[in-house]
Amino acid sequence: MQRPASVVKELLENAIDANSSFVKLIIKDAGKTLVQVVDDGFGMSVTDARLSFERHATSKIKSADDLFNISTKGFRGEALASIAAIAHVELKSKQEQEEIGTCLKIEGSEVVSQEVVVMPKGTSILVKNLFYNIPARRNFLKSNPVEIRHIIDEFHRVALAHPNVRFSMFHNGSEVFQLPDSNFRQRIVNIFGNKTNEKLVPVDESTEVVTMTGFVGKPEFAKKTRGEQFFFVNNRFIKSPYLNHAVSSAFEGLLKDGAHASYFLNLQVDPQSIDINIHPTKTEIKFEDEHTIYAILRSAIKHSLGQFNIAPVLDFEHNTNLDTPYQQHKMAATNPVVDVDRSYNPFSSEGTKNNMGVFQPKRENSEGWESLYVGLESKGGDVDARLNGEEFETDPEHISMFQNASQDTTAATYQLHRKYVISKIKSGMLVIDQHRAHKRILYEEFLKQITIKEGLSQQLLFPLILNFSVDEIKILTELKGQLEHTGFVFSKLEDETMEITGVPITASESEVSVILEQLINDVENEVPDSNFSQSDMLAKSLAKSLSIKTGQALTNMEQEHLVNSLFACKEPSITPENRLTFVTITVDELDKKFM
Ligand code: ADP
Ligand code: MG
Repeated sequence: MQRPASVVKELLENAIDANSSFVKLIIKDAGKTLVQVVDDGFGMSVTDARLSFERHATSKIKSADDLFNISTKGFRGEALASIAAIAHVELKSKQEQEEIGTCLKIEGSEVVSQEVVVMPKGTSILVKNLFYNIPARRNFLKSNPVEIRHIIDEFHRVALAHPNVRFSMFHNGSEVFQLPDSNFRQRIVNIFGNKTNEKLVPVDESTEVVTMTGFVGKPEFAKKTRGEQFFFVNNRFIKSPYLNHAVSSAFEGLLKDGAHASYFLNLQVDPQSIDINIHPTKTEIKFEDEHTIYAILRSAIKHSLGQFNIAPVLDFEHNTNLDTPYQQHKMAATNPVVDVDRSYNPFSSEGTKNNMGVFQPKRENSEGWESLYVGLESKGGDVDARLNGEEFETDPEHISMFQNASQDTTAATYQLHRKYVISKIKSGMLVIDQHRAHKRILYEEFLKQITIKEGLSQQLLFPLILNFSVDEIKILTELKGQLEHTGFVFSKLEDETMEITGVPITASESEVSVILEQLINDVENEVPDSNFSQSDMLAKSLAKSLSIKTGQALTNMEQEHLVNSLFACKEPSITPENRLTFVTITVDELDKKFM
């Protein structure tokens, strides 16, 4: 628990999980004195109530199968236990079939009283004096306006994800929100005001992989700050700089410089195809097939904008297969496994439209490939090889040449499913996760640059101007020194604007805004008292943004570089987040399988 808003999020989510139809949030002093959530859900028995404050006491996972089919918000049974450790908590709960309810008082994880109460069905949890026993943490809390802003953000997220549930919110005795149960559009309007209604353009797309519904804001209403941007995946709010990029790219050419589109988008996917446990605050998830989702999202939004006459329809062929930056349909089908554009990289320049409205590929700096290469060979690198690499990417003839070369049986590495690089070793083979391995490599590289302050910078032709909110600029200002060591050059950083004249050589201009958004996101989610070093966090965040992704085809040369650079690392076997970068499979193990 970092702040009152984190408590609010957990309590609201528990209320939703309890199948409530009305949820009330009561706040005093921006949550510093009181956070209370009252619901009319299915409640808890006496035993449930006592157990709910034990760590890992979740009622939500009954079998191992459930783990893969999580539809509830919580499932780790940690929230109430951690809240009870740092606050005074009073829980009242009654199940429908019971005559009376239970009231428990807990202080610093100890139950100090247990009584019976008369109350309607449902649960009320009252959290008083947050961090009363951790003064340092309490002092770390921001001013009331900032804390209440965070609380309202969490409230918005839960309320938007569940328009069929009635919500109300009170702060210091006055009503802040009163939201009747409604449909999604009405819920948005009830939260953001009547004027919002005319700004919404519906988005609707159904494919095998994902069903998308919701709205994007018309371009003329785009805002300077990234305020109203919401992704919900299976009714759970998530942050995704990657998907955000898909939306921005769908708006390409329609927004004024520095403006951000609003969106309220629901994605429904098979729960088995996502990993929501990747981040402790559970606002980040990992899709099995994020490239496809990116492409579908971008195409669906373009289609909507076109259909509602916001952008010329001519440009937007509503076929996700064609919606790639390359004209791959013109390429000879030399390789049966090419089902996705081999160099499809959403962070690359997306091409430009000529005056006929036809999509034409354009490579500004050959970002995807070059940044990988430079990342691996930061001390200058082999320019010729880089240029050749660029040609491989753009010229179909070179691609087929290259494919012949890759079939050379003497190759020391082999790429499997554009995800793993297989490398032969004496005892058998290494299976290297390309994304994780590259993250490790870049992480150590950035950490070194920040420490010895010698990151190489490439100068931009024109200064890049980006807009952020005041809070975000504050975060970036704190990290300015270290960012400069990685190669960033700032010519202005004030108010809500940032002007950049140089970027690290491992990054390209078009990636900068995603990198910085990811960084802000990472800083905001960092637990304040974990003794984190800012340099470490910065290096991790940059490595995460810039590392090659699953789905990216690698030439043999790139694969070998990856393997060599990985084993030149101090800790090659794990990512900065402590996950395995490779596994070994020995000949012995294979032999056993054949017995
Ligand atoms: P989790 O939500 O991950 O299971 P929590 O610590 O948030 O863990 O909650 C622990 C348990 O307390 C839940 O599994 C649930 O059984 C119970 N619980 C919490 N809040 C409520 C509520 N509002 N209504 C009914 N049961 C609740
Ligand atoms: Mg919970």
